[in-house]
Amino acid sequence: MRELFRPEPLTDFSKEENRKAFEEALKIVEGELGKTYPLVIGEEVIDPGRTITSTNPAKHSEVIGYVGKARLEDVERAIKTAEEAFESWKRVPGEERARYLYKAAAILRRKKHIISAWMVKEAGKSWVEADADTAEAIDFLEYYGREMERLSAPQPLTVLPGEDDVLEYISLGVGAIIPPWNFPVAILTGMTMSAVVTGNTVLLKPASATPVVGYKMFEIFREAGVPGGVINFIPGSGGEIGDAMVDHPRIRFISFTGSVEVGTRIYERAAKVQPGQKWLKRVVAEMGGKDAIIVDETADLEAAAQGIVTSAFGFQGQKCSACSRAILLDSIYDELLERIVEKTKALVQGDPATYAHTLGPVIDRAAYDKIMNYIELGRKEGRLVLGGTGHDEVGYFIEPTIIEEVDPHARIAQEEIFGPVLAVIRAKDFDHALAIANDTDYGLTGSVYSKNRAHLEKARREFHVGNLYFNRKCTGAIVGAHPFGGFNMSGTDSKAGGPDYLTHFMQLKSVAEVL
Ligand code: NAP
Repeated sequence: MRELFRPEPLTDFSKEENRKAFEEALKIVEGELGKTYPLVIGEEVIDPGRTITSTNPAKHSEVIGYVGKARLEDVERAIKTAEEAFESWKRVPGEERARYLYKAAAILRRKKHIISAWMVKEAGKSWVEADADTAEAIDFLEYYGREMERLSAPQPLTVLPGEDDVLEYISLGVGAIIPPWNFPVAILTGMTMSAVVTGNTVLLKPASATPVVGYKMFEIFREAGVPGGVINFIPGSGGEIGDAMVDHPRIRFISFTGSVEVGTRIYERAAKVQPGQKWLKRVVAEMGGKDAIIVDETADLEAAAQGIVTSAFGFQGQKCSACSRAILLDSIYDELLERIVEKTKALVQGDPATYAHTLGPVIDRAAYDKIMNYIELGRKEGRLVLGGTGHDEVGYFIEPTIIEEVDPHARIAQEEIFGPVLAVIRAKDFDHALAIANDTDYGLTGSVYSKNRAHLEKARREFHVGNLYFNRKCTGAIVGAHPFGGFNMSGTDSKAGGPDYLTHFMQLKSVAEVL
């Protein structure tokens, strides 16, 4: 009997032995920087003759690695290989496929500091953020394995007299897996292995900012025994090969997590039935957020300030679930803002390879420029109370920035900035706060700090987000406990880490035999 799913414990870095182990892992990773990684299609290791150069966002002169950059012909070849592998992989029983995930989880557990250290170097995550990312990947593997075992059993039905009625889940086909860079281990693992455990074969195109971490995870999946051709590793530019993957008539589904711009493009293109295509493509598209935390006059202001600061500035605000709007009721606005500013001032920014640096860089030059432009706009749309400065000489560092008295319809209160920028908005009462919170195109996460039962119940009904939290931060969803996915332009609400997730990658077959 398999144990019930339990979330992976996080590493306690207050213990010296854990800090030492992480330092060791960082040293090992630092000794391996600058290597070259190939494409892998089926059993074939391919050098496409050109590479993506991945650099450290905290030190842009440091090369993390060179990763093969797929061409259009590689996409074609990967689809053909995945189609061939599908013929045998779909026949492997679900419980058996689940075992590859448990094995991958065990390997990842053994290598967890190494993988986290790669994220520190390639994505600019702090130790704590990287450790949580790796733990979440282990959770996805353990959880989806168990879910597949559950869904492998015949599904409950009304059985008619004199008939043998069976309903079972079967796989879809070849999928395109297109993850983002901001959870390069957890999201990449969840998206890839959910499709694989359900009997599909895939093309995995990691985000171009984190392809080395992508390769390291691909290696773990192969080490766990996933056969060649089931996962085809084709790093490359989304702008260059993305359309070819999405448009291809033999692609059956697309699993995407990323920006609303790319997600809507994929959704639209996938809807067009191409010559020779025999199905309607499925699209799972999880996209951005403009997430809000509301605080009312009954709240524990200390806890609220901490929750806002952690949600706004954890991983430099580069989470789809990050709090980018703090909506404070008029009566507590000044006092709470002061506490938020004080707590933000205490954050220590620098190269995240050093444990004490809990705040690192933003991912790359494009993100740096975009966020700095939003800060300039914010200076006009509100009053800058903290931060506002960037330092890009060594890495892409932007100080945590707080802008207050922002109009709910200002651009910095409506558009996803995806950086360490918090807009503080004043609300006259709770209803007003809820109306402001709901008044964006997105609907991903939200949180309310309050001791007023009527306010919490009203928010429960009316705060229109896929993941709502009370008296807690709005980031850090836990697999199995907080199935994750948003409403409106935040995406298809597929609820990663929840009981419905795997069904997106399968279809149901009903067989009735007259006895
Ligand atoms: P992105 O720019 O949209 O990229 C996501 C992925 O799409 C990357 O692998 C990218 O490849 C690829 N891509 C780019 N153009 C494409 C095209 N034309 N066709 C197909 N694929 C294409 O997003 P990101 O900057 O990596 O991630 C940040 C965004 O993700 C934010 O908006 C954040 O809110 C969202 N996000 C959402 C969730 C959620 O669960 N809702 C979770 C995490 C992140 P390249 O890297 O090669 O361009």
